[in-house]
Amino acid sequence: MTKSIIDEQRSAQAQLSNEEITRYSRHLIMPEVTIEGQRRLKAARVLCIGAGGLGSPAALYLAAGGVGTIGLVDFDEVDLTNLQRQILHGTKDVGRKKLESASERLRNLNPHIDLELHDCRFTSANAQDLVERYDVVVDGSDNFSTRYLSNDVCVWARKPNIYGSVFRFDGQSTVFAPHLAGPCYRCMFPEPPPAGTVPNCAEAGVLGILPGIIGMIQATEAIKLILGLGESLIGRLLLFDALKMKFREFNLRRDPLCPVCGENPTITSPIDYEEFCGTNTESVAAATALPTISVHELKQKIDAKTPMIILDVREPFEYEIARIENSKLIPLDELPDHLDELDPNAEIVALCHGGVRSARAVEFLRASGFARAINLAGGIDAWANEIDPAMPRY
Ligand SMILES: [Zn+2]
Repeated sequence: MTKSIIDEQRSAQAQLSNEEITRYSRHLIMPEVTIEGQRRLKAARVLCIGAGGLGSPAALYLAAGGVGTIGLVDFDEVDLTNLQRQILHGTKDVGRKKLESASERLRNLNPHIDLELHDCRFTSANAQDLVERYDVVVDGSDNFSTRYLSNDVCVWARKPNIYGSVFRFDGQSTVFAPHLAGPCYRCMFPEPPPAGTVPNCAEAGVLGILPGIIGMIQATEAIKLILGLGESLIGRLLLFDALKMKFREFNLRRDPLCPVCGENPTITSPIDYEEFCGTNTESVAAATALPTISVHELKQKIDAKTPMIILDVREPFEYEIARIENSKLIPLDELPDHLDELDPNAEIVALCHGGVRSARAVEFLRASGFARAINLAGGIDAWANEIDPAMPRY
């Protein structure tokens, strides 16, 4: 059995009243949980970032299951378009603070738990302070800057960060915990996609039940870590496809060169995450200034059997999810050690997920004498979107 993230001293102090014993009886009769596990749940402190699509089911089940303290961070108000999936809130709550309606609903569900309401954005200024006070973080955010921020502060504070994201009919989840030998979000995605290339739920839509499923997976992982039960999703990325009703999983590896959790970290305090993920970053400008090719032009070249090397610089687990036929995989980090595998006279089309990592590869290749290296604009994601609709997207 894995070790609980709640130490025994703390769980021993969490006593259950007779009413709580009755309420949690279906837990208590399970030999894997018993009153000891329920005390651990009561002693536990879970921070939910966001009271939206993922945070709603997660917070409801954490509260129902008896997690003693739930922190909620949210600054937003309930909008009518939220109600298709954000089941913490009801029709009468439209226009109210999400924290108000969420706390009402959760207190009604379980008056024995403590709610800590943080009516603010989760930012570089407050993130470390907030995360320090909790045992585990359920990240229900819907944007890249918050995800990188919650990742980084959880790595520094040595707190497991339970990740979830949803897009249309697809969802994914994993647990980031370098202190428990797993990778972090930056090991998986070293760079955010170029701003504007990944639509959010408001732009692309999401099947309302999808965040329900993913948020409940996040809550399940939180409860398992607290109880010290089973195998966690640490080091495994779980992908869910609602249309095919299929779960797939991929092993994630820790990147020893990761700037946050690697052996020689270069980022040790919060950065400007808006700028890192934002619209005016120099890297995006530089990426668009490099010689590029569109996915349609690449398709024409492939169809015409034009000699070239299609160089995929993503990570192996990404390559496993989706790849262009006959492409050669060399992850960006490993490129300097594998230059001898590439013909300096060949045309090299570099690609990654969205075009940023491959832009770096093209810069590096050109500086190393590969004069015909070009970047695939939009990466494999644009390929899946515009050329091969059967290809899984992530
Ligand atoms: Zn990392």
